[in-house]
Amino acid sequence: MGDRRYAVSLKRRAILKSGLALLAAGAVGRAAMENDALTSATASIPPEPALPTGWIITVEGPIPAAEAGIMLPHEHVMVDFIGADQVDSSRYDADEVFSAVRPHLERVQALGARTICECTPAWIGRDPELLRRLAAATGLRLVTNTGYYGAGANKYLPAHALTESAGQLAERWIAEWRDGIGQTGIRPGFIKIGVDAGPLSDVHRKLVAAAARAQRATGLTIAAHTGDGIAALEELDVLRAEAAAIERFIWVHAQSEPNPDRLLEAARAGAWVELDGIGHDTLDQHLTLMLAMREAGLLGRVLLSHDAGWYTVGEPGGGAYRGHDTLFTDFIPLLRERGFSQPEIDQLIIHNPAKAFAVERLS
Ligand SMILES: [Zn+2]
Repeated sequence: MGDRRYAVSLKRRAILKSGLALLAAGAVGRAAMENDALTSATASIPPEPALPTGWIITVEGPIPAAEAGIMLPHEHVMVDFIGADQVDSSRYDADEVFSAVRPHLERVQALGARTICECTPAWIGRDPELLRRLAAATGLRLVTNTGYYGAGANKYLPAHALTESAGQLAERWIAEWRDGIGQTGIRPGFIKIGVDAGPLSDVHRKLVAAAARAQRATGLTIAAHTGDGIAALEELDVLRAEAAAIERFIWVHAQSEPNPDRLLEAARAGAWVELDGIGHDTLDQHLTLMLAMREAGLLGRVLLSHDAGWYTVGEPGGGAYRGHDTLFTDFIPLLRERGFSQPEIDQLIIHNPAKAFAVERLS
């Protein structure tokens, strides 16, 4: 599909160039005729969807959002499920993880992906240096995050997350945006939090409020692992109460909610509905949701990803790594079969994620 778009822009450029050359030669009469031809030729090319403004903050620095290319908004390179009280970078060999992960990133890159959001938060295996190394070796752009993951009954929360206020937690995350993560100089490209199924506990409500405040201060988008639709709609209420931007909120794992009306409600409110977890055994379920979103005219609020990977710290060789490829090998062909057009597919895998993660200001 990159080739098709390239061909369209080349054609446009050729038309413009010939028009300009004629004008420069002073062939006024002919130029006027050509100008008509130019207008009608241009009008026959369908307009491309507007590319987003702003920046995607990768581990190697900001890139224009319009250049992010095909983007996977939710994948993992590495996860450590040991718990926040024991998690530590000494538990794995970064060289081994690098070697294990690299071929999977090269594979998805060969399939067309250009930018991947790595959704592993701090205290559960986030390693920005490892991501930077993988990005440099593969040429794939990787995006890391700030924020805390409360899902899993708070097992992955550091002790201070239970005692500090929403404002104090927000300040920690804002500091990572301002100063970089630890000593790495790497800035987060989004805020990742996690909450269990609703109704939200006090601690999880506090995480959402902290994320809302950090979003207001930084402009970063919030991606929230969310247990179910009740929790998702409560999260939107917290955002409203904090005067944060709902269109900069991603309901992660929305496909797990059994009632599709809740997905439509969140999308109509302006939130991003992320249908991640795409795999061979979910194709029908994801297709059903995509048809419902299209029917409702809400494809402009949908994000697609695998939530796949990952090197599991503590398992021999990192355990079974699920590749980031089913979207390309199976799901997009299935969407095409069911009548999704190329502009719709481009919107889903290029324009929507670029818009969802674009940051308007760099400081
Ligand atoms: Zn995930």
